[in-house]
Amino acid sequence: MINIELVLIIIFLSGLALVIGLWLWLWRRLVRMNSSSPTESPLIEPSGLKKEDNQKSSSEIEKTKLVVHGLLKNLESHVQTLLDNTTRYGSNLDEHASQLKKAETLATIQQVEQLLLQEVETMKSSTYRYQQQLDDAQKKLKEQEKILEKLSRDANTDFLTQVNNRAAFDKRLNEEFARYKRYGHIFSIILMDLDFFKDINDTYGHLAGDRVLRAVASLLNDEKRASDFLARYGGEEFALILPATDSNSALVVADKLRKKVETTTFRYENYSIHTSLSAGITTVLPEDATSIDVLKRADDATYEAKNKGRNQVVVK
Ligand code: GH3
Ligand code: MG
Ligand code: MG
Repeated sequence: MINIELVLIIIFLSGLALVIGLWLWLWRRLVRMNSSSPTESPLIEPSGLKKEDNQKSSSEIEKTKLVVHGLLKNLESHVQTLLDNTTRYGSNLDEHASQLKKAETLATIQQVEQLLLQEVETMKSSTYRYQQQLDDAQKKLKEQEKILEKLSRDANTDFLTQVNNRAAFDKRLNEEFARYKRYGHIFSIILMDLDFFKDINDTYGHLAGDRVLRAVASLLNDEKRASDFLARYGGEEFALILPATDSNSALVVADKLRKKVETTTFRYENYSIHTSLSAGITTVLPEDATSIDVLKRADDATYEAKNKGRNQVVVK
Protein backbone atom coordinates (compact mmCIF):
# COMPACT_ATOMS: atom_id res chain seq x y z
CA MET A 1 0.00 0.00 0.00
CA ILE A 2 2.83 2.41 1.00
CA ASN A 3 4.47 1.66 -2.24
CA ILE A 4 1.36 2.52 -4.29
CA GLU A 5 0.99 5.89 -2.51
CA LEU A 6 4.67 6.64 -3.00
CA VAL A 7 4.43 5.80 -6.70
CA LEU A 8 1.37 8.06 -7.09
CA ILE A 9 3.17 10.96 -5.29
CA ILE A 10 6.20 10.54 -7.53
CA ILE A 11 3.98 10.49 -10.68
CA PHE A 12 2.16 13.63 -9.49
CA LEU A 13 5.41 15.51 -8.76
CA SER A 14 6.87 14.45 -12.09
CA GLY A 15 3.75 15.62 -13.95
CA LEU A 16 3.86 18.96 -12.08
CA ALA A 17 7.51 19.41 -12.99
CA LEU A 18 6.75 18.60 -16.59
CA VAL A 19 3.91 21.15 -16.74
CA ILE A 20 6.08 23.83 -15.04
CA GLY A 21 8.99 23.05 -17.42
CA LEU A 22 6.70 23.17 -20.39
CA TRP A 23 5.21 26.44 -19.24
CA LEU A 24 8.69 27.95 -18.65
CA TRP A 25 9.80 26.87 -22.11
CA LEU A 26 6.74 28.44 -23.68
CA TRP A 27 7.20 31.60 -21.65
CA ARG A 28 10.88 31.95 -22.66
CA ARG A 29 10.05 31.43 -26.27
CA LEU A 30 7.35 34.08 -26.14
CA VAL A 31 9.74 36.50 -24.43
CA ARG A 32 12.45 35.80 -27.08
CA MET A 33 9.97 36.39 -29.91
CA ASN A 34 8.88 39.71 -28.46
CA SER A 35 12.40 40.93 -27.83
CA SER A 36 13.73 39.83 -31.26
CA SER A 37 11.05 41.74 -33.32
CA PRO A 38 12.78 45.22 -33.13
CA THR A 39 16.17 43.90 -34.33
CA GLU A 40 14.62 42.11 -37.29
CA SER A 41 12.84 45.36 -38.59
CA PRO A 42 13.74 46.23 -42.23
CA LEU A 43 13.51 49.95 -41.48
CA ILE A 44 17.00 51.45 -41.59
CA GLU A 45 17.27 55.14 -40.81
CA PRO A 46 14.13 56.16 -42.72
CA SER A 47 14.62 59.86 -41.92
CA GLY A 48 18.09 59.84 -43.65
CA LEU A 49 16.66 58.40 -46.87
CA LYS A 50 13.84 60.97 -46.97
CA LYS A 51 16.38 63.86 -46.81
CA GLU A 52 18.28 62.56 -49.88
CA ASP A 53 15.06 62.14 -51.77
CA ASN A 54 14.06 65.69 -50.89
CA GLN A 55 17.36 67.11 -52.24
CA LYS A 56 16.98 65.14 -55.49
CA SER A 57 13.42 66.27 -56.15
CA SER A 58 14.08 69.97 -55.34
CA SER A 59 16.94 70.11 -57.89
CA GLU A 60 14.68 68.44 -60.43
CA ILE A 61 12.02 71.04 -59.65
CA GLU A 62 14.55 73.81 -60.32
CA LYS A 63 15.68 72.13 -63.57
CA THR A 64 12.10 71.65 -64.71
CA LYS A 65 11.28 75.22 -63.74
CA LEU A 66 14.16 76.45 -65.91
CA VAL A 67 13.07 74.39 -68.91
CA VAL A 68 9.45 75.44 -68.59
CA HIS A 69 10.53 79.03 -67.95
CA GLY A 70 12.65 78.97 -71.13
CA LEU A 71 9.69 77.57 -73.02
CA LEU A 72 7.51 80.26 -71.56
CA LYS A 73 9.97 83.00 -72.49
CA ASN A 74 10.20 81.57 -76.03
CA LEU A 75 6.47 81.64 -76.34
CA GLU A 76 6.35 85.13 -74.92
CA SER A 77 8.84 86.34 -77.50
CA HIS A 78 6.81 84.61 -80.23
CA VAL A 79 3.72 86.27 -78.92
CA GLN A 80 5.56 89.58 -78.91
CA THR A 81 6.95 89.30 -82.42
CA LEU A 82 4.30 87.31 -84.26
CA LEU A 83 1.07 88.19 -82.54
CA ASP A 84 1.32 91.77 -81.44
CA ASN A 85 -2.40 92.15 -81.40
CA THR A 86 -3.24 88.92 -79.58
CA THR A 87 -2.49 90.23 -76.10
CA ARG A 88 -4.77 87.61 -74.63
CA TYR A 89 -2.07 84.97 -75.09
CA GLY A 90 0.49 87.21 -73.46
CA SER A 91 -1.59 87.65 -70.32
CA ASN A 92 -2.29 83.89 -70.19
CA LEU A 93 1.40 83.17 -70.29
CA ASP A 94 2.02 85.72 -67.56
CA GLU A 95 -0.48 83.89 -65.42
CA HIS A 96 1.31 80.59 -66.02
CA ALA A 97 4.64 82.22 -65.22
CA SER A 98 3.39 83.37 -61.83
CA GLN A 99 1.93 79.90 -61.21
CA LEU A 100 5.30 78.44 -62.09
CA LYS A 101 7.05 80.77 -59.65
CA LYS A 102 4.77 79.64 -56.85
CA ALA A 103 5.05 75.99 -57.82
CA GLU A 104 6.65 73.84 -55.12
CA THR A 105 5.93 70.34 -56.34
CA LEU A 106 6.48 68.49 -59.59
CA ALA A 107 2.75 67.97 -59.84
CA THR A 108 2.10 71.72 -59.92
CA ILE A 109 4.81 72.24 -62.54
CA GLN A 110 3.30 69.43 -64.57
CA GLN A 111 0.01 71.25 -64.35
CA VAL A 112 1.60 74.46 -65.62
CA GLU A 113 3.27 72.45 -68.37
CA GLN A 114 -0.08 71.02 -69.38
CA LEU A 115 -1.59 74.49 -69.51
CA LEU A 116 1.36 75.66 -71.59
CA LEU A 117 0.93 72.75 -73.99
CA GLN A 118 -2.72 73.66 -74.41
CA GLU A 119 -1.68 77.25 -74.92
CA VAL A 120 0.85 76.18 -77.55
CA GLU A 121 -1.81 74.16 -79.37
CA THR A 122 -4.24 77.07 -79.34
CA MET A 123 -1.54 79.45 -80.47
CA LYS A 124 -0.37 77.08 -83.21
CA SER A 125 -3.82 76.71 -84.67
CA SER A 126 -4.56 80.36 -84.16
CA THR A 127 -1.28 81.52 -85.75
CA TYR A 128 -1.90 79.11 -88.63
CA ARG A 129 -5.38 80.58 -89.05
CA TYR A 130 -3.90 84.04 -88.53
CA GLN A 131 -1.21 83.35 -91.15
CA GLN A 132 -3.83 82.12 -93.60
CA GLN A 133 -5.93 85.17 -92.90
CA LEU A 134 -2.87 87.36 -93.45
CA ASP A 135 -2.08 85.55 -96.72
CA ASP A 136 -5.68 85.98 -97.84
CA ALA A 137 -5.66 89.60 -96.77
CA GLN A 138 -2.35 90.16 -98.57
CA LYS A 139 -3.72 88.52 -101.72
CA LYS A 140 -6.89 90.57 -101.51
CA LEU A 141 -4.90 93.75 -100.86
CA LYS A 142 -2.71 93.08 -103.88
CA GLU A 143 -5.80 92.52 -106.03
CA GLN A 144 -7.32 95.65 -104.53
CA GLU A 145 -4.11 97.56 -105.20
CA LYS A 146 -4.23 96.52 -108.86
CA ILE A 147 -7.88 97.53 -109.12
CA LEU A 148 -7.14 100.89 -107.49
CA GLU A 149 -4.10 101.42 -109.70
CA LYS A 150 -6.22 100.73 -112.76
CA LEU A 151 -9.01 103.00 -111.50
CA SER A 152 -6.55 105.77 -110.78
CA ARG A 153 -4.90 105.25 -114.18
CA ASP A 154 -8.32 105.30 -115.85
CA ALA A 155 -9.28 108.45 -113.94
CA ASN A 156 -6.20 110.20 -115.32
CA THR A 157 -6.18 108.66 -118.78
CA ASP A 158 -8.02 109.71 -121.88
CA PHE A 159 -10.10 106.76 -123.05
CA LEU A 160 -9.61 107.30 -126.80
CA THR A 161 -5.93 108.23 -127.02
CA GLN A 162 -4.58 106.62 -123.80
CA VAL A 163 -2.53 109.70 -122.92
CA ASN A 164 -3.24 111.83 -119.80
CA ASN A 165 -6.64 113.51 -119.74
CA ARG A 166 -7.60 117.10 -118.98
CA ALA A 167 -8.06 116.47 -115.25
CA ALA A 168 -4.55 115.02 -114.98
CA PHE A 169 -3.21 117.96 -116.98
CA ASP A 170 -4.86 120.55 -114.71
CA LYS A 171 -3.50 118.78 -111.63
CA ARG A 172 0.04 118.63 -113.02
CA LEU A 173 -0.10 122.24 -114.21
CA ASN A 174 -1.11 123.38 -110.71
CA GLU A 175 1.73 121.35 -109.20
CA GLU A 176 4.25 122.89 -111.60
CA PHE A 177 2.90 126.35 -110.86
CA ALA A 178 3.14 125.81 -107.09
CA ARG A 179 6.73 124.59 -107.51
CA TYR A 180 7.55 127.70 -109.54
CA LYS A 181 6.08 130.00 -106.88
CA ARG A 182 7.88 128.21 -104.09
CA TYR A 183 11.25 127.35 -105.62
CA GLY A 184 11.34 129.46 -108.80
CA HIS A 185 11.54 126.36 -111.01
CA ILE A 186 10.32 127.54 -114.40
CA PHE A 187 8.29 125.53 -116.92
CA SER A 188 6.78 126.06 -120.35
CA ILE A 189 3.61 124.78 -121.94
CA ILE A 190 2.72 124.03 -125.56
CA LEU A 191 -0.94 123.94 -126.63
CA MET A 192 -1.54 122.17 -129.95
CA ASP A 193 -4.73 122.28 -131.99
CA LEU A 194 -5.12 120.14 -135.11
CA ASP A 195 -5.91 122.17 -138.19
CA PHE A 196 -9.21 121.76 -140.01
CA PHE A 197 -9.91 118.58 -138.17
CA LYS A 198 -13.61 118.85 -138.84
CA ASP A 199 -12.79 118.31 -142.52
CA ILE A 200 -11.15 114.95 -141.72
CA ASN A 201 -14.33 113.77 -140.01
CA ASP A 202 -16.43 115.10 -142.82
CA THR A 203 -14.27 113.52 -145.55
CA TYR A 204 -13.28 110.13 -144.05
CA GLY A 205 -15.80 109.64 -141.29
CA HIS A 206 -15.68 109.98 -137.52
CA LEU A 207 -13.92 106.65 -137.04
CA ALA A 208 -11.14 107.81 -139.32
CA GLY A 209 -10.95 110.99 -137.23
CA ASP A 210 -10.64 108.85 -134.11
CA ARG A 211 -7.87 106.80 -135.68
CA VAL A 212 -5.95 109.98 -136.59
CA LEU A 213 -6.40 111.36 -133.07
CA ARG A 214 -5.00 108.14 -131.58
CA ALA A 215 -2.09 108.13 -134.02
CA VAL A 216 -1.24 111.79 -133.36
CA ALA A 217 -1.31 111.17 -129.61
CA SER A 218 1.02 108.18 -129.98
CA LEU A 219 3.35 110.15 -132.23
CA LEU A 220 3.51 113.10 -129.79
CA ASN A 221 4.10 110.68 -126.96
CA ASP A 222 6.99 109.04 -128.78
CA GLU A 223 8.57 112.35 -129.76
CA LYS A 224 8.33 114.19 -126.43
CA ARG A 225 11.10 114.08 -123.83
CA ALA A 226 10.67 111.66 -120.95
CA SER A 227 10.32 114.51 -118.45
CA ASP A 228 7.57 116.23 -120.42
CA PHE A 229 3.91 115.68 -119.60
CA LEU A 230 1.51 115.08 -122.49
CA ALA A 231 -2.28 115.30 -122.25
CA ARG A 232 -5.32 115.43 -124.47
CA TYR A 233 -6.55 118.89 -123.62
CA GLY A 234 -9.80 118.80 -125.60
CA GLY A 235 -11.42 117.26 -128.72
CA GLU A 236 -8.54 117.66 -131.20
CA GLU A 237 -6.27 119.57 -128.86
CA PHE A 238 -3.18 118.37 -127.02
CA ALA A 239 -1.04 120.04 -124.36
CA LEU A 240 2.51 119.49 -123.23
CA ILE A 241 4.07 120.66 -119.96
CA LEU A 242 7.85 121.03 -120.19
CA PRO A 243 9.45 121.33 -116.74
CA ALA A 244 12.70 123.34 -116.46
CA THR A 245 12.32 124.55 -120.03
CA ASP A 246 12.38 128.15 -121.31
CA SER A 247 10.47 129.48 -124.36
CA ASN A 248 13.35 129.01 -126.80
CA SER A 249 13.79 125.32 -125.94
CA ALA A 250 10.00 124.84 -125.95
CA LEU A 251 9.90 126.39 -129.42
CA VAL A 252 12.42 123.81 -130.68
CA VAL A 253 10.32 120.98 -129.24
CA ALA A 254 7.05 122.41 -130.63
CA ASP A 255 8.46 122.89 -134.09
CA LYS A 256 9.84 119.34 -134.12
CA LEU A 257 6.38 118.01 -133.18
CA ARG A 258 4.67 120.24 -135.75
CA LYS A 259 6.98 118.98 -138.52
CA LYS A 260 6.49 115.38 -137.47
CA VAL A 261 2.68 115.66 -137.63
CA GLU A 262 2.84 117.56 -140.93
CA THR A 263 5.04 114.91 -142.58
CA THR A 264 3.22 111.86 -141.29
CA THR A 265 0.77 109.96 -143.42
CA PHE A 266 -2.05 108.53 -141.31
CA ARG A 267 -3.66 105.45 -142.79
CA TYR A 268 -7.25 104.45 -142.36
CA GLU A 269 -8.66 101.67 -144.55
CA ASN A 270 -7.54 102.70 -148.06
CA TYR A 271 -7.18 106.32 -147.15
CA SER A 272 -3.96 108.25 -146.64
CA ILE A 273 -4.76 111.17 -144.38
CA HIS A 274 -2.64 114.23 -143.67
CA THR A 275 -3.05 116.84 -141.00
CA SER A 276 -1.12 119.59 -139.27
CA LEU A 277 -1.14 121.48 -136.02
CA SER A 278 -1.00 125.02 -134.76
CA ALA A 279 0.81 125.53 -131.48
CA GLY A 280 0.98 128.24 -128.87
CA ILE A 281 3.90 128.37 -126.44
CA THR A 282 4.50 130.25 -123.24
CA THR A 283 6.73 130.12 -120.16
CA VAL A 284 5.56 130.90 -116.64
CA LEU A 285 6.19 134.53 -115.63
CA PRO A 286 6.61 136.20 -112.22
CA GLU A 287 3.44 138.25 -112.77
CA ASP A 288 1.30 135.14 -113.25
CA ALA A 289 -1.06 134.93 -110.29
CA THR A 290 -2.45 131.47 -111.08
CA SER A 291 -1.82 128.67 -113.56
CA ILE A 292 -4.84 129.92 -115.54
CA ASP A 293 -2.83 133.04 -116.49
CA VAL A 294 -0.19 130.78 -118.06
CA LEU A 295 -2.82 128.72 -119.83
CA LYS A 296 -4.60 131.78 -121.17
CA ARG A 297 -1.36 133.11 -122.70
CA ALA A 298 -0.69 129.77 -124.40
CA ASP A 299 -4.28 129.75 -125.72
CA ASP A 300 -3.85 133.26 -127.12
CA ALA A 301 -0.64 132.13 -128.82
CA THR A 302 -2.46 129.19 -130.41
CA TYR A 303 -5.19 131.45 -131.76
CA GLU A 304 -2.49 133.67 -133.17
CA ALA A 305 -0.91 130.68 -134.90
CA LYS A 306 -4.34 129.84 -136.38
CA ASN A 307 -4.87 133.38 -137.48
CA LYS A 308 -1.42 133.54 -139.07
CA GLY A 309 -2.38 130.66 -141.40
CA ARG A 310 -2.13 127.46 -139.22
CA ASN A 311 0.61 124.78 -139.24
CA GLN A 312 2.87 127.05 -137.26
CA VAL A 313 4.12 127.82 -133.77
CA VAL A 314 3.75 131.10 -131.83
CA VAL A 315 5.53 132.04 -128.64
CA LYS A 316 3.91 134.53 -126.20
P1 GH3 B 1 -9.29 124.71 -136.78
O1 GH3 B 1 -8.15 124.62 -137.75
O2 GH3 B 1 -9.81 126.10 -136.73
O3 GH3 B 1 -8.97 124.19 -135.51
O4 GH3 B 1 -10.42 123.84 -137.47
P2 GH3 B 1 -11.05 122.54 -136.79
O5 GH3 B 1 -11.97 121.95 -137.77
O6 GH3 B 1 -10.01 121.67 -136.31
O7 GH3 B 1 -11.78 123.12 -135.57
P3 GH3 B 1 -13.26 123.01 -135.11
O8 GH3 B 1 -13.29 123.52 -133.69
O9 GH3 B 1 -14.12 123.70 -136.09
O10 GH3 B 1 -13.59 121.45 -135.14
C1 GH3 B 1 -13.01 120.54 -134.26
C2 GH3 B 1 -13.33 119.21 -134.79
O11 GH3 B 1 -12.73 118.20 -134.05
C3 GH3 B 1 -14.82 118.95 -134.79
C4 GH3 B 1 -14.99 117.73 -133.93
O12 GH3 B 1 -15.93 116.84 -134.41
C5 GH3 B 1 -13.65 117.12 -134.01
N1 GH3 B 1 -13.42 116.26 -132.86
C6 GH3 B 1 -13.32 116.63 -131.57
N2 GH3 B 1 -13.19 115.54 -130.80
C7 GH3 B 1 -13.19 114.46 -131.63
C8 GH3 B 1 -13.11 113.05 -131.40
O13 GH3 B 1 -12.97 112.55 -130.30
N3 GH3 B 1 -13.15 112.25 -132.49
C9 GH3 B 1 -13.30 112.74 -133.71
N4 GH3 B 1 -13.34 111.92 -134.70
N5 GH3 B 1 -13.41 114.06 -133.94
C10 GH3 B 1 -13.36 114.92 -132.92
MG1 MG C 1 -9.93 123.00 -131.38
MG1 MG D 1 -8.70 122.37 -134.64
